[in-house]
Amino acid sequence: MQIFKTKNEIQAFVKQQKAENRRIALVPTMGALHSGHLSLLDKAKENNTLTICSIFVNPTQFNDPKDLEKYPRPLENDIRLLEKAECDVLFLPDVQEMYPDKDEKWHIDLGSLDQIWEGANRPGHFQGVTQVVYKLFTIIEPDVACFGQKDFQQVMVVQRLIDSKQLPVTLIICPIIRDEKGLALSSRNVRLSETGKTKALVLSRALTLIKEGFQEQSFAALLSQAKALIAGEGDVELEYLAICETTTLMETERIEPNQNYVALIVAWIDGVRLIDNMLLNNN
Ligand code: AMP
Repeated sequence: MQIFKTKNEIQAFVKQQKAENRRIALVPTMGALHSGHLSLLDKAKENNTLTICSIFVNPTQFNDPKDLEKYPRPLENDIRLLEKAECDVLFLPDVQEMYPDKDEKWHIDLGSLDQIWEGANRPGHFQGVTQVVYKLFTIIEPDVACFGQKDFQQVMVVQRLIDSKQLPVTLIICPIIRDEKGLALSSRNVRLSETGKTKALVLSRALTLIKEGFQEQSFAALLSQAKALIAGEGDVELEYLAICETTTLMETERIEPNQNYVALIVAWIDGVRLIDNMLLNNN
């Protein structure tokens, strides 16, 4: 695996690859890699594309400085995992390389996506996400980019970025990878205590409860049962739980014809913010 730390180096390399008609797939990450990230890489490797993984803990998307400070950075292990997964290239810039101008301004109209759920609860987060993803897309110019359904709203935001800047990149959405007990893998899980890890299973249990009753019971009844389940676990602080229509993320009260729904959840355990979701109509 080749490792590039500067824009110039990776751009020169990509240019050469494109001249040889290689298609480029990008997997943007913040490192502390796990099987969820590796599943994105597997997807990226399909169709004989050149696979580039980026690791960059992007400061502009952290609305909580403590979260940024505590974000895990096990770089040696990440490199080992990427090599084992036969990733072709790692792009590993530092903050100075990505933000040479400390006062750089960025704003993109994300409509209601900036005002609901993650947009409302993490002010500035999606501006930071689109800022760094736009940089990565313009530096690397990938043909495809793989993102996880785990960050459901983020995928919508990135698609919005692609549409509004008319970027020639296709977004591939990859399913959520969970551990054998149902916990959605996350880089932040390493900050959970053993008890916290057990308690965190209540998130996927609550989502499953909603999915299982989705066709039979009212959304209000499902949400109240799921909230009771979470409250019964103790020491799990629910930030939001909602059943939303998948294209607008507007909260809805009942099933309408020809619409699809997703249950979204965010909760805090051991001071760690956990996010998960489940599609309700299919699979
Ligand atoms: P992060 O390093 O947390 O910014 O995540 C990088 C990418 O990996 C994002 O597109 C995430 O949605 C995706 N991702 C994170 N966790 C999972 C998971 N458990 N399953 C699938 N994709 C994931």
